Amino acid sequence: MDTWHDCETWSPDRIRDHQLELLRAQLTRLHATSRHYRRRWDDLGWHPGDLRDLDDLAALPCTDKADYQRSIDEHPPYGDFLAVPREEVARLHFSSGTTGAPTPVAWTRQDLDRWADLYARAAYSQGVRRGDVYQCLFSFAWFVGGLGGTLGYTRLGATVIPGGSGDTERQIETIFRYGTTAVGGTPSFLLHLADRARGLGTPLANSTVRQVMVGGEPGGQVPATRALIEREWGARCYDGYGCLEFQPTAWECAAQAGGHLAEDFTYAEVVDPVTRAPVPDGEPGVLVLTHLDKQACPLVRWWTGDVVVRDRSRCDCGRTHARLVGGVRGRADDMLVVRGVNVFPSAVENVVRGTVGDLVEFRVVLDPALADPATGYPTALRVQVEGAENDDLRGRLAAALRAELAVRAVIDIVAPGELPRTTHKARRVVRAEEPEVHRVP
Ligand SMILES: [Zn+2]
Repeated sequence: MDTWHDCETWSPDRIRDHQLELLRAQLTRLHATSRHYRRRWDDLGWHPGDLRDLDDLAALPCTDKADYQRSIDEHPPYGDFLAVPREEVARLHFSSGTTGAPTPVAWTRQDLDRWADLYARAAYSQGVRRGDVYQCLFSFAWFVGGLGGTLGYTRLGATVIPGGSGDTERQIETIFRYGTTAVGGTPSFLLHLADRARGLGTPLANSTVRQVMVGGEPGGQVPATRALIEREWGARCYDGYGCLEFQPTAWECAAQAGGHLAEDFTYAEVVDPVTRAPVPDGEPGVLVLTHLDKQACPLVRWWTGDVVVRDRSRCDCGRTHARLVGGVRGRADDMLVVRGVNVFPSAVENVVRGTVGDLVEFRVVLDPALADPATGYPTALRVQVEGAENDDLRGRLAAALRAELAVRAVIDIVAPGELPRTTHKARRVVRAEEPEVHRVP
């Protein structure tokens, strides 16, 4: 494979025709082979023959992680989503969720082949070619990225070194010794490697690496993080986005203008997190995905929980598949709506760090006193920041939040050390505690 696939430049009409044709076949197959979907659709009185247009898919409920987990719990260990006999399953990867037991996702041999092609297309679109040396720095054990990366770059014709995400010094030595030209990994591991390499007196900017594909964590499309990776590695950094269930979902091309959705592989909807109605392109909504031709355990209207902004304008690279501009903006569960404005904790974080300093501790408090009594939605944010009591800071931060995010904020300055610390993922949004009720004896 040394070129891109024809489908990447299809007209929007042709993409929709292709999606409808595959979707009809997929739903008909699932009705016959997936116990889960047959039961759900029969309960609704819905039949795949009811699908006349892509928009008709919205009549079906979304499938989410809780549905999937319940299926595994009730029908261990595979659940009832499986649409092929177990002997046809060629690969299992497991989600590393923070709640519940790891859940398996299955691939047939045909699915693995498809996955390799998609990943190869991603790498090709970023300028990787036959003859490149690819060092895979994603983890292989219990993580989907390692084998995904090696599959795709092997298909493309690169020389593949499956390094994994440990042995920092050996990875660095290998990069220089074998003239690695492309790597893939999580932003945090790649920055860790760069830091160590500098410490060893062999900065990675001096290596032959030209392409970096990041995934597994947000960061690839966070401008500051991307710039840092590009500077440290002396290479171009491309974001690859994929939830475990949809590998891969979207990837950036050389234009670095937001990941192209693999629209020949998945049908994507972007919906309002609350009403679940479709949102127009250019506005944030939750990405909902349907497998068009996956065989092992296809998912219909999978609620990714990731908030994205879709852009169908033509990309400089010539590909026509829609892009997710700005990458994953946040998780639907974390999105705050303040007087009709969508606000993510990460956006507040950017403003706070830019105004107060990189290392400051802060949190957003949802204060019922600042909520609209009719809707319950906040009308302003309460932001608690550690620092010295200072009216100027209070005013500057409120002004910056208003200017950059169009939200009103009430700023509380709290003493340094007062906000709770966590070693894992900081909890940036909390609800104000209910006022204590003092009982009169
Ligand atoms: Zn492009």
